[in-house]
Amino acid sequence: MTGFRSYMDLALDQARAAAQRGEVPVGAVIVSPEGRIVAQTGNRTRELSDPTAHAELLAIRAACAALGRERLTGHDLYVTLEPCPMCAAAISFARIGRLYYGAADPKSGGLGQGPRLYAHPQCHHVPEVYDGLGETQSAQLLKAFFAERRY
Ligand SMILES: [Zn+2]
Repeated sequence: MTGFRSYMDLALDQARAAAQRGEVPVGAVIVSPEGRIVAQTGNRTRELSDPTAHAELLAIRAACAALGRERLTGHDLYVTLEPCPMCAAAISFARIGRLYYGAADPKSGGLGQGPRLYAHPQCHHVPEVYDGLGETQSAQLLKAFFAERRY
């Protein structure tokens, strides 16, 4: 791919920052079709006492609020971990163009396993999906976080 720039390094920075806040280390970045970063966030479920405050959802909310619209057509979303079914649905609703994710999530992932949301006929918008980007660093962050806390 010519001219491709990955924003996964920034998503990994957000994941590290989340770990420092005591949150599960997952980070997300949304990039406009022009290559402008419109949102970058990490998990904040504990801080906000909100089980839906996953990195992807917070990034979608922030990007939509910043742009003043409910859809992010043509935007790219980078997230360090495979989205759960809730976030996968939100990514579809937001009309994200391309989804890049790092590590697969055998426990809670909703794309490569579990409900495989984007293969479901009720899913009206399916982004292009690229996995494995920054996979090793993402998996290491999660492993270290959970080892320390013995969840
Ligand atoms: Zn999620």
